[in-house]
Amino acid sequence: MVDAGRRVVEVRRWAPGGAERWQRYEVDAGADTTVLDALVEIQRRQDPTLAFRYACRVGMCGSCAMVVNGRERWACRTRLAALGGGRLQVRPLYHFPLLRDLVVDMAPYAARLAAAGGALVPSRTAAPYARIAGSGPERAAIDPAIECIGCGMCLSACTMVGHNPRFPGPAALNRAFTLQRDSRDAGKAARWATLLSDDALARCHGQGACTDVCPMGLSPTGSIIRLRAMATRRLLGLEGPQGVVDPPPPGV
Ligand code: SF4
Repeated sequence: MVDAGRRVVEVRRWAPGGAERWQRYEVDAGADTTVLDALVEIQRRQDPTLAFRYACRVGMCGSCAMVVNGRERWACRTRLAALGGGRLQVRPLYHFPLLRDLVVDMAPYAARLAAAGGALVPSRTAAPYARIAGSGPERAAIDPAIECIGCGMCLSACTMVGHNPRFPGPAALNRAFTLQRDSRDAGKAARWATLLSDDALARCHGQGACTDVCPMGLSPTGSIIRLRAMATRRLLGLEGPQGVVDPPPPGV
């Protein structure tokens, strides 16, 4: 029997050499208690062996990304009260190597980003410290896609990431979109070669699971659709100076 104000939290546990299991804890929960508050409470007062990752605690860094009640969420911005009164289950992100308990290895995230040409290749013709005007059309085109915090929730939610290790994943494709529209970048041809390979743009099934969970409200799905539109125009010889294409499709 759990008192009013007490919540049962089931946490997926694993340590190297051991077996995965669910462990049950109880915590005091107020109206504003977050999942991260509950985990900190457990670690400080009940079980110092529980491992999880966090940094800013205020919804900026994304390092507390995990799966709560079957959905990717950031623990610091997820209140227990908002999850209803039922069972509360916390497990690590999917599709990442597990290091311990709720801590995953983010190295594959960086590797997928690099493989998709996620770094700006400075153009020799761009002015040093070139800026894209905040009010211009180039900035307006990429604005909806530039606030990625690298949390990895979209990769966890994406079934294609789990299915195909060569698929760059939503965050890398979202990043690639911003670079393919960036006039300062000279890496577009090499990036197109990757994006148009069998394992990149063609593999996205467009179901939008990544967009559903992005805590920043980005739409990797929309960026992928725009990349496909740019690729089509490119193949038809209709590409503008920065691959400028149509306005964003509605609803993505
Ligand atoms: S696109 Fe959104 S969900 Fe994906 S890594 Fe960036 S912030 Fe996280």
